[in-house]
Amino acid sequence: MKILVANIGSTSLKWRLFDFSATAATMLHKGGYERVADYAKAIDDCLGELKAAGHIRGEQDLAAVGFKTVVARGVSGCVRLNDSVLRAMEAYNAIAPAHNPPYITGIRLFAKRMPATPLIGLFETAFYQWAPEAAQRYAVPESWHEAGVRRWGFHGASHKFIAERSAELLGRQDVAERARRLYVDGGASPVTGAPLRVVSCHLGGSSSVSGILNGAAVGNSLGLSPQSGLPHNNRVGDLDSFAIPLVMRTLGLSLDEVERQLCKESGLKGISGVSNDIRDIQTAAAGGNARAKLALDVFVHASRHWIGGYLMELNGADALVFTAGIGENRPELRAAICERLDQLGIELDPVANEKTRATEGLISSARSKVKVLVIPTNEELVVARETRRLLERQ
Ligand code: AMP
Repeated sequence: MKILVANIGSTSLKWRLFDFSATAATMLHKGGYERVADYAKAIDDCLGELKAAGHIRGEQDLAAVGFKTVVARGVSGCVRLNDSVLRAMEAYNAIAPAHNPPYITGIRLFAKRMPATPLIGLFETAFYQWAPEAAQRYAVPESWHEAGVRRWGFHGASHKFIAERSAELLGRQDVAERARRLYVDGGASPVTGAPLRVVSCHLGGSSSVSGILNGAAVGNSLGLSPQSGLPHNNRVGDLDSFAIPLVMRTLGLSLDEVERQLCKESGLKGISGVSNDIRDIQTAAAGGNARAKLALDVFVHASRHWIGGYLMELNGADALVFTAGIGENRPELRAAICERLDQLGIELDPVANEKTRATEGLISSARSKVKVLVIPTNEELVVARETRRLLERQ
């Protein structure tokens, strides 16, 4: 069974093609285009590349196309992307202005190009369905809560991958199996050993920390929108809601302009004034740029704040995991985040930390009670697996 996973940005299309045999998934192909002007043509070109590489004869060979959809009103989990789901996504465009509109446009174009192929979305909120109610609730009037103002949590595909893979690496097949079956049985699979506690740090262009107990999330630093929690590349992260009326009144900004600045001019770019890429910010900081140094300090501070929250929630941790662009590739930031945590049982091995880049590895010292791991994430594989499972169930 061949499943294409399409990753849609406002001007990019990236994809991975998976083949599922009875026992395993193989990635057959990966590719993508940046600076896409004509999205319909990009879809055609993608199918053309898959044909030219001999993976498919035509779209009839694709059992489905899976998408890592973000958020929709009243919809989560893994679902067929029919018109009513697309309208539910549209209803929450204001929550995910950088993500939902391009996805909706792209999915409609896929539907037009391949009307007979099932299009399936795994929502980024899905992993948090079983988080405790107290972790999902903002202290707002009931009518706001009913309107959708709640902590949804995002990066679900990535943190779910970490839940599965960290359990495997820690020798806990029972928990790995429970994590794999989460969207099928809601966490009913039994755990045979002691509770497994993992704090997962997805640090990249967009960043979040999740607490994971026995393969299921207890919460995520992203709340109502993908603009909350840790500061992101150019999106704001946590902010007191009263900042918005303040700048509207004192700086004379319109609501549209406030939204634009929170999504495009804030985060690490906003603080540093340098770039939205952490590598440029690190170079500037090393050259003495104080704002760049502050941006890194704020990022480290926020990461520690959220890690601390989940250590408390989980009563400690068996593993602390780093993933995504920054988590996988920047040992100096991992070291800054883990500094002075020996009293909490977290201690890095500086040599292992320094050499572990873009690969799986244990980076804690032999003394460290908490295992610190680097695990490259594989969100597309999670989307493909759940897409396949939905097809098989229907
Ligand atoms: P992601 O959103 O997971 O693709 O992460 C992208 C971010 O990771 C970029 O903003 C970079 O600042 C950061 N990064 C740091 N080092 C690397 C690297 N070697 N390769 C890719 N991304 C990197």
